[in-house]
Amino acid sequence: MSDCLFCKIIVGEIPSEKIYEDEDVYAFYDIGKQAPHHFLVIPKTHIATLNDLNEKNDAALLGKLTLTASKIAKDMGFAEQGYRVVMNCNEQGGQTVYHIHLHCLGGRNLSWPPG
Ligand code: AMP
Ligand code: ZN
Repeated sequence: MSDCLFCKIIVGEIPSEKIYEDEDVYAFYDIGKQAPHHFLVIPKTHIATLNDLNEKNDAALLGKLTLTASKIAKDMGFAEQGYRVVMNCNEQGGQTVYHIHLHCLGGRNLSWPPG
C-alpha cells in the first residue's frame, strides 16, 4: 500500500534497523523503545488490522509472526528470562500504525494488566 509507513520500511523507502527478513515477514527495532529489547515483526503483505485477517489464508502467516519473534528472542538471549508479544488493534487497542505488527518486548519486568 503506497501510503503505509511499514510498507515503505519493507521496501527500504524509509530506513529501519532490520533484524530479520524472509519472503513472508520483516523484523526491525521499534523506534519508540519501551523495554531494553523491543522489536516489531510485520508481514510483507499489507493487512491493516487484526480484523482484516482472512480466516483461511492468514492463519499460517499469523503463526509465523509469533514464531519469528520467539526465534529472535532466543537468538538475542532473553527468551529464557521471558518476554511479551502484543498486537494492538484499532483505536481502543492502541494501534497507531495500520499495518499489522507484533511487538516483542523483553529485558525487564513487564507489569500486568497493561494501562
Ligand atoms: P502500535 O501503537 O501498536 O500501532 O505500534 C506502532 C509502533 O511503531 C510504535 O511502537 C512506534 O514506536 C513504532 N514506529 C513508528 N514509526 C516507526 C519507524 N519509522 N521505525 C520503527 N518503529 C516505528
Ligand atoms: Zn502496509
